[in-house]
Amino acid sequence: MKKLHELGVVIEVVKTVENVAVENDLSKIEKLVLQIGELSSMIPKYIEACYPAAVDNTILEDTKLEIEVIPGNAMCKSCNKVFNIKENNGTCPHCDSKAWELLSGKEFVIKEIVAY
Ligand SMILES: [Zn+2]
Repeated sequence: MKKLHELGVVIEVVKTVENVAVENDLSKIEKLVLQIGELSSMIPKYIEACYPAAVDNTILEDTKLEIEVIPGNAMCKSCNKVFNIKENNGTCPHCDSKAWELLSGKEFVIKEIVAY
């Protein structure tokens, strides 16, 4: 069922990009760049798997999809160092603190629409 979740989101993204294309008189889009946070509920490989079905019969049919993964980083409240949440299982590797503030990793953004 996980895949259906992504498909719905990808269809929404495609609609958004189509609207941008219409507003800007673009007939063809070369590349679509998405930024996906490592801690978001979106899984890049599922997004990629859903993409061909979502763009079928739209102006994005030949558009390349590029996904940039944003690391899930946090700043430790005890020692102020930045570390990757996922790699360190939510514990600061410098001082073992579990008190931190999330800096990035929950993004799901259309970063760029590249047209000819
Ligand atoms: Zn720390």
